[in-house]
Amino acid sequence: MYELKILSVFSSAHNLRGYNGKCENIHGHNWQIEVIVCSELLNEIGIAIDFKILKSYLKIIMEKLDHKYINELPYFENINPSAENIAKYIFEEFGILLNNNQESKSINIKVKKVNVYETATSMASYFE
Ligand SMILES: [Zn+2]
Repeated sequence: MYELKILSVFSSAHNLRGYNGKCENIHGHNWQIEVIVCSELLNEIGIAIDFKILKSYLKIIMEKLDHKYINELPYFENINPSAENIAKYIFEEFGILLNNNQESKSINIKVKKVNVYETATSMASYFE
């Protein structure tokens, strides 16, 4: 099995509804994102998928989140925008983009895990 990882950062605000403490108030983070995909196969030139393609997908998702108040995004209207749920959101969005790519479909690339760092020392992951 091969694994590829891409990284990105975005800045945005959120607040945790029902949290008994400071995080119930609106505040910001510089979120660090890691997306890990895996593949059993490589193509004829020895790569699973071009990093450029993976980065272009992550950029599409980052543009939905960067400099936004995450609570106002439709996905997070009823789901708390915790690091855990943001990881799940990115996992799902990335999977949709990957599934629409014929090349990644033919070589069977899957999102393995998404890591979301709220701070340098606090990280939540989502995987299936
Ligand atoms: Zn926070």
